[in-house]
Amino acid sequence: MTVNVLFAHNDVNWDVYKGTLEKALTDAGVPANLSRDLTPEEVDYIVYAPSSPLQDFTPYTRAKAVLSLWAGVETVTGNATLNMPLARMVDFGLTQGMTEWVTGHVLRHHLDIDYTLRHQDGDWLPRVPPLARSRRVSVLGLGALGSACAQALAGLGFPVSGWSRSPKQIDGVSCYSGDAGLKATLEQADILVLLLPFTPATENVLNAESLSWMPQGACVINPGRGQLIDDDALLDALDDGKIARATLDVFRVEPLPAEHAYWAHPNVTVTPHIASETRPETASEVIAENIRRGEAGEPFLHLVDRGLGY
Ligand code: NDP
Repeated sequence: MTVNVLFAHNDVNWDVYKGTLEKALTDAGVPANLSRDLTPEEVDYIVYAPSSPLQDFTPYTRAKAVLSLWAGVETVTGNATLNMPLARMVDFGLTQGMTEWVTGHVLRHHLDIDYTLRHQDGDWLPRVPPLARSRRVSVLGLGALGSACAQALAGLGFPVSGWSRSPKQIDGVSCYSGDAGLKATLEQADILVLLLPFTPATENVLNAESLSWMPQGACVINPGRGQLIDDDALLDALDDGKIARATLDVFRVEPLPAEHAYWAHPNVTVTPHIASETRPETASEVIAENIRRGEAGEPFLHLVDRGLGY
């Protein structure tokens, strides 16, 4: 039987997704009618971006699941009209993209590439960075993205520690959890990477107190969510040198307003939420696999725990 798949996402190139998703559904053996324009009562699956104008799921009485194209689902987990399973995006492209972006920015801070770029002035000033084994990196959030980044960094020789809600064991990574674990992780963060989801429990996890636990002159890299950081506390820490530099990809308000202090701060790099994009080719395979599972009566992959908010 043909399943009706609603593509509820206005921000992306529909022509690309139409091609990749139709192919992935065919490859998965699922006969499907993929459209942006279906009557709610006839929809079997909703392929969704949390930025979509679709906010009222009440009329989608037949739909079996909402399948998010994004990893971060904080804007939809609390939607009271959503009474069906919600799956988020975990896929090779998103994980690989984030691993490359995080590794690049960690190496930039570790090697002090900014110093080299600032000193192209004819002076021959050798400045040798320490080896990775002398620079401790901490990753908050050891899920699909954080664990991949932690392992890649450990593979480069950095002593890596990480923090998650539940206890973890990851080869080459010192894993912590719980409140005491957060302090221990931050105390080892010469470079800190934030890859937590935004939930009520993670908001402002980096605040004046937790910043004070970090080593003097540490760097902060945030590709997680803007709400993880108390912005005023981070700006104070940057101004007094506690934090040497920050690379920020995500913000409480996006686009980051032109007058925001982050844009003008000499030790802050702003990137426009590009740490890792969902790539149609790989994401379509995950969506198609979940629809195949739904039709076969198998459990969906990457289900969101609505109670935890991620
Ligand atoms: P996961 O759900 O796989 O991992 C989340 C991790 O955070 C888990 O290890 C989880 O712990 C931990 N965590 C959650 N709540 C807490 C808490 N209260 N205390 C301690 N640890 C906690 O998510 P992903 O790795 O796939 O993605 C992480 C985030 O990255 C997304 O939510 C999104 O905000 C962001 N993102 C940003 C992108 C960008 O381009 N900037 C692109 C994609 C994602 P546990 O393992 O115990 O559950």
